[in-house]
Amino acid sequence: MRSGGHCALCHRYLLESEITFAFEKLGELAHIVAQTNSELAPRGLSELSDEDRNLAENLMLACGHCHTDIDKRLQAERLDVHWLLMVKQRHEQRIRQATALAANERTVLLRLVGHIRGASTDIGALEAVAAVNMLAERRPELSLDPNRAGAEIDLRSLPGEGNPIDSGYYETACQRISQIISERLKPAVERAEVPHLSIFGLARLPLLVFFGSRLDDTVSTEIFQRHRATESWTWDDTQDDVTFHHRVHAEGEVGATEATLVVNASGTVSLGAIPVDVKDLPTFIIEPIGAAPNRDTIRTRSARDSFHAAVSDLLGYIEAHHKSVKRLHLFAAAPVSAAIILGRSVGWGFHPSLVVYDAVDDRYRFALEVKAP
Ligand SMILES: [Zn+2]
Repeated sequence: MRSGGHCALCHRYLLESEITFAFEKLGELAHIVAQTNSELAPRGLSELSDEDRNLAENLMLACGHCHTDIDKRLQAERLDVHWLLMVKQRHEQRIRQATALAANERTVLLRLVGHIRGASTDIGALEAVAAVNMLAERRPELSLDPNRAGAEIDLRSLPGEGNPIDSGYYETACQRISQIISERLKPAVERAEVPHLSIFGLARLPLLVFFGSRLDDTVSTEIFQRHRATESWTWDDTQDDVTFHHRVHAEGEVGATEATLVVNASGTVSLGAIPVDVKDLPTFIIEPIGAAPNRDTIRTRSARDSFHAAVSDLLGYIEAHHKSVKRLHLFAAAPVSAAIILGRSVGWGFHPSLVVYDAVDDRYRFALEVKAP
């Protein structure tokens, strides 16, 4: 098995006839130190016990040709025990490396777990692993979590969730998110241990946006969410596709430094509920084309990616037509994946910062501002 079905000497494949191409076991177990302690046996004189002579450590998988070759009397003197052991070890090491998982087949799981409207939520590690496995694209790893269990960024112990704005909950939760990302994720990325990230989140929307803004831009990422229709974390790419676009609701004043972004991805934000002081700003809307948004509008990865593309298009539009906008006020009815995508897209570089509002008792209140870190 360690030799992977190849002759350790000439590397010929030993599980198929080279004549008929039929399955055939052509490998032979060649003794390095001969089976019998005799001057007449190839490399036979040794202190190795009879038992040890038949262990895998003293055997190498070889084709019949190579087996005969190394056991010829004169060859056995030229190709000694030391040389054969070296060849055997090198071959077995190569097979081990060649059959190991490549970096691009691994994904590291990162979960953000908080409260949603008073209810403590949970994403079990095994649930997250199962969702990644269902896609059958990458092999999940829990390496960022030293305990290999439980939540990786756990906000459930933080006080004040019931009244997040007045209690300073958002401030402490953002600190916790930043801390764990800089202590665990960032060093692992720098050590090149994170070829790919799988993100799971359950928390209030402003925290998901903030979380997205703190994720490393250089690591490719798959975002998961729990789907209402099935209560499952698995993306069902067989569902009908939804396409998102942005539209300009109001161009506002030329040279405005602030603007408003309304996201209707899992429901429809009532424009009447938006605070008066941001009402007359340039206003942009992101919404699905040709359908009213509902809780399962983003059901497939292509719908999710279409949302991402609509956000990028809008940022391009703002860059081209509203260059002076430095702050974007966000009012969103959006599922987890869309909230994280908003954070990943907007809080960076030359893009405007994102002022995130939370819906509390049917009105929107300022929750937090996402700026480039
Ligand atoms: Zn061979």
